[in-house]
Amino acid sequence: MSTHAVDVEHEKSAGSQPVKYVYFFGEGHADGHGKMKDELGGKGAGLAEMTNAGLPVPPGFTIQTEACREYMRKGDVSAEVNRQMDEALAHLEQLQGQQLGGADNPLLVSVRSGAKFSMPGMMDTILNLGLNDESVKGLAQRTNNPRFAYDSYRRLIQMFGSVVLEIPKHAFEEVFDGKKKQKKAKLDTDLDARALQEVIAEYKKVVKQHTKRDFPQDPHEQLVMARDAVFRSWGNDRAKHYRRMNNIDDMLGTAVNVQAMVFGNLGETSGTGVGFTRNPATGVKEFYGEFLMNAQGEDVVAGIRTPMPITELDRVQPEVYNQLREITTRLEQHYRDMQDFEFTIQDGRLYMLQTRNGKRTGRAAVRVAIQMVDEGLITKEEAIFRVEPNQLYDFLVPRLDEKNADIEVLATGLPASPGAAVGQIVFTADEAVEKFQKDPKAKLILVRGETTPEDIHGMEVAAGILTSRGGMTSHAAVVTRGMGKCCVAGAGDIEVSEKNREMRVHGKVLKAGDWLSLDGTTGRVINGKLNTIPASPDDPELVKFMAWAEPFRRMGVRANADIPRDALQARAFGAEGIGLCRTEHMFFAEDRLPHMRAMILANNEKDRRTALKKLLPMQRQDFIGVFRAMDGYPVTIRTLDPPLHEFLPRREDLLVEIAKLEITKPKSPKLKELHTLLNRVEQLHEVNPMLGLRGCRLGITYPEITEMQARAIFEAAVKVAKEGVKVKPEVMIPLTTGLKEMANQAAIVRRVAEEVFNEKESKIEYLVGTMIELPRAALVADEIAKEAEFFSFGTNDLTQTTFGFSRDDVGKILTAYLANGILKQDPFATLDRDGVGQLIKIAVQKGRETRPTIKIGICGEHGGDPSSVEFCAQNNFNYVSCSPFRVLTARLAAAQAGASAELNVEAGRTK
Ligand code: PEP
Ligand code: MG
Repeated sequence: MSTHAVDVEHEKSAGSQPVKYVYFFGEGHADGHGKMKDELGGKGAGLAEMTNAGLPVPPGFTIQTEACREYMRKGDVSAEVNRQMDEALAHLEQLQGQQLGGADNPLLVSVRSGAKFSMPGMMDTILNLGLNDESVKGLAQRTNNPRFAYDSYRRLIQMFGSVVLEIPKHAFEEVFDGKKKQKKAKLDTDLDARALQEVIAEYKKVVKQHTKRDFPQDPHEQLVMARDAVFRSWGNDRAKHYRRMNNIDDMLGTAVNVQAMVFGNLGETSGTGVGFTRNPATGVKEFYGEFLMNAQGEDVVAGIRTPMPITELDRVQPEVYNQLREITTRLEQHYRDMQDFEFTIQDGRLYMLQTRNGKRTGRAAVRVAIQMVDEGLITKEEAIFRVEPNQLYDFLVPRLDEKNADIEVLATGLPASPGAAVGQIVFTADEAVEKFQKDPKAKLILVRGETTPEDIHGMEVAAGILTSRGGMTSHAAVVTRGMGKCCVAGAGDIEVSEKNREMRVHGKVLKAGDWLSLDGTTGRVINGKLNTIPASPDDPELVKFMAWAEPFRRMGVRANADIPRDALQARAFGAEGIGLCRTEHMFFAEDRLPHMRAMILANNEKDRRTALKKLLPMQRQDFIGVFRAMDGYPVTIRTLDPPLHEFLPRREDLLVEIAKLEITKPKSPKLKELHTLLNRVEQLHEVNPMLGLRGCRLGITYPEITEMQARAIFEAAVKVAKEGVKVKPEVMIPLTTGLKEMANQAAIVRRVAEEVFNEKESKIEYLVGTMIELPRAALVADEIAKEAEFFSFGTNDLTQTTFGFSRDDVGKILTAYLANGILKQDPFATLDRDGVGQLIKIAVQKGRETRPTIKIGICGEHGGDPSSVEFCAQNNFNYVSCSPFRVLTARLAAAQAGASAELNVEAGRTK
């Protein structure tokens, strides 16, 4: 719970003034920041501030977030909330000279959510509230527009019905569509007042049928019910999911804004629109947005009529246009940030309905930040915080070249993995691989209903992935993000038929081989072949922006990379070394696996050494490549970590193969071989392999493996050093739990190093250290530091073993834990500061006690997560290490952490 909520409770029990639950727009000092935003929410604070500034805002009031928290706790609000709301309503009625739902000249209100952090479209809204069988007549008379009045009433019943009374939307849609059919109406607007009255009568029947009561005629009852429904919508699945994705605290609650309605659908001099003070996609300083005349907000969203670009308003209503430009410019100056606004024009008069800091792409964020510094609106130090580190990903992936292109959007899915991909459709992973083998330059889009782990080989060769089902954490989404590959997931309008090798979308049929263009940043699926613009990590604006941020960075940023290609990629993104080179990845290669298996199958040390000898030159070559690529930067190489059975075939597959062979070729010599393999697989089988013979336990059980790896590292290092390249190997022992394990493995490494230096008559500097990835290691870090010259926190395993959650199966637990608020976020993505963080702090402190100069880093997935990077910076880590595509993000997150410490400002990362 926010500290503010606790204050409120305290205030009450102290018996002082009752809590102020309701604020009339403009009442109090709404500065749009800090406490007022906590209480009024972003929308409420914006409306209050605009009112204070004398801007044309329809009057209204905000019921603050504490009422929502109360509602969440007790299932109802206190009498005091109702009392203050009634008082504010009376004031509003007086101001307007109208009565809510009055028979003659009714006051109608909108009831909208508005949380501290904007959650666009996630919660509920009810418009036209106050209409009933009587007031609708009054509205018809007052506006002299019965069609408008009855349409507003039918919209209210429909919205109220679905949002407040939770009646399925289709129940109303069926009535409405039926009426259109009956009246042979093509468009909604073809239904006249009489037809709409008939719709209303039928809607009321729907309400009665579903709720066993009449649609509430009492406007006050409507208001209370709508308010509570908005409070409840804070807890709907959509909103919860959004909060999880954006790290927003579930306990904040939403405010509710009750505001006098203004109508954009009163005729041709009325209208409604939305806009931005700058282009939110590119950041270009241009008035950007769209509007519709004679329409309500929902018509713009519903997409039935095509809105006009906002610049056209200059032609339609020049005075309103100029006023809007003047107001929004003022708003931008006032908030010192790009604004996203909503407005309505009623009979030629402009009303502002919302202003807030606009959401924008990473590219736009960088450009706007730079321009605002140039314009003198913000300082360079402020600019550093105007870009979310994760947004920098936009610069690292290609995008579609839309200039002069004919864009036919077939469907829109979820922007699961950013970037762009253009290619020819394939419907199965096998087909993708087959095409790729024929032509390695083939550009392919793998289109699936959804992907599964069996599709992985196809996903690897495809340029992009499109699925018709699945969300942001579906297999396709997660895997492609890891690969840095574009993916649009869950494009529900698309029907995929693997059997017919075709996809259908809105009557269009696309076959295998047809061209598609995907925009993974917006989720658009575009027909045909567009050009792409390559990634631009050297974009001049990005370079300029990073040059402002980087001087504040106190911590190094390295990359996790196993092969020279990834190492080079990471360097291009600014990595200052490799923080984790997982050597096992080198053994999975096709030419190595047989030797690896021979090594594992060996019954004695001699045979094992023979197999290892074959692997030695290959490993050496790998390290030569990585050292050359890193050209003087440190390279942390980890000795073998995973359990050995991972290199052998699966037991089940072997059993099937043996059974088949026993029937078809019972005399085959292969059978004996397979039985030997099966025997070994069964010997190596562990119930909990993650807690089994892995990490340094392997090197202790089979010291010759560590020996071979150390030899490969130092022979490679000496060779590359002789070429004139600086090498700085850091040999890292995984999964230690105490000093003796560390000493055992370090002794092998140091002995082999000396041997190689003597043989080659050449010496290089190196370090031997360990990963801290088990709670025990953290607790005895002072002991381990006697041998370890560096620590690197393996927070994947450390999280796994601290929580006791399997890192491979956590998804099954996570859903319920997040839904119940037991966890706020996935601890494997964002470091759990309370638990895992404590262990890290202990280890850092103890490690430095023993060895004050000990180098400290992190190489778990958290090394690329902005909040976790901030934690590392606060604990004076020497570096973080993350996957190459997150290096830029980590650099900015580290710079922001440095800047907030130095400038004493809050990065505001944890919401
Ligand atoms: C870790 O455990 O955090 C780590 C980096 O090692 P791996 O993911 O290879 O187990
Ligand atoms: Mg690990």
